[in-house]
Amino acid sequence: MHHDGSDSTDGGHPGGSPDPRSFDRSPLVVTWESTQACDLTCDHCRAEAQTERDPGELSTADAKDLVDQVASFGHPPPVFVVSGGDPLQRPDIFEILSYAVDSGLPTAVTPAPTENLTPEVVSRFADIGVHRMALSLDGPDPETHDGFRGEAGSYESVTRAAEWAEEFGLGIQINTTVTARTAQYLPAIADRVADLGATMWEVFFLVPVGRGEDLTALSPAAADEALAWLFHRGQEAPYRVITVEAPQYRRVARQEAGSDVTVGSTRAGSGFVFVSHRGEVYPSGFLPLSSGRVPEQSLVDIYRSDPLFERLRDPDGFADPCGSCPYRDVCGGSRSRAFATTGDPLAADPLCPRT
Ligand code: SF4
Repeated sequence: MHHDGSDSTDGGHPGGSPDPRSFDRSPLVVTWESTQACDLTCDHCRAEAQTERDPGELSTADAKDLVDQVASFGHPPPVFVVSGGDPLQRPDIFEILSYAVDSGLPTAVTPAPTENLTPEVVSRFADIGVHRMALSLDGPDPETHDGFRGEAGSYESVTRAAEWAEEFGLGIQINTTVTARTAQYLPAIADRVADLGATMWEVFFLVPVGRGEDLTALSPAAADEALAWLFHRGQEAPYRVITVEAPQYRRVARQEAGSDVTVGSTRAGSGFVFVSHRGEVYPSGFLPLSSGRVPEQSLVDIYRSDPLFERLRDPDGFADPCGSCPYRDVCGGSRSRAFATTGDPLAADPLCPRT
């Protein structure tokens, strides 16, 4: 998964859109890694997907307990993203998605593009009332996308799934991973995202964890260039653009268009929380420091009161230059990348040219 979604009410994902909630009290998005099992082995997979389901996965009852806990954050409810691995590897996935929708949670699902993803499955997502289906697209054509994911036929599968979603009236978002190699394709992917009818484009700036460790991240200067380009493309796109693990997007947007502008971007533990397949609670799927386990412990208590989560919401405590940066409150840097590169989640984000 990655993937991880912007504004709360349209089912989006983390990020700086106007929202009445305080991130100290409630996240915009809770992502649950429903399983690590997946038939694919994409090169950059954070989950390092497995062929078999882990017997330690949350049970159906545990998953429903988790849904109850997410709902207990109150109103407005967080977006509940059911990711993986491939959620379709769980035979109870429709039951859990139904339960989440019936509990009042805007619910998204991120199925892998395998032969398990059929028109019947997409139709069922729509019937249940799933808000959005996320699909990954990392290149504008079969050669680049399948090459990046190491999976022939994946591009065609994504295209077909998007067509079925349109047929059944299910909203989609496209998730794209940016690396030094794939940044050149962003303009062509942006056009493709429009062609596929997506309402959101979630652009993930690589954090070197999982199988992604072998991929090369952008340089700080190239990342800023890509973020500025994304901002301007987003102004004219028929979909919303958000970034993941690049909160510098908010700084760049202000530099490009002034201090009133607000764009979507995630930050670990501040508006976002990740629950692993075993129920471990992390600030992000890319920041694997567990603060407890659900359903035994309370997700709400962990999010609001765990010392790590509190520190992640206090940019004044980050290492310089992030800690003294004039943009620390709107940006704060990727805490996941800081951890992946230094072992300290409060260190500076090396992707920023200011660091
Ligand atoms: S120095 Fe840190 S807080 Fe400032 S813009 Fe860069 S990443 Fe964001």
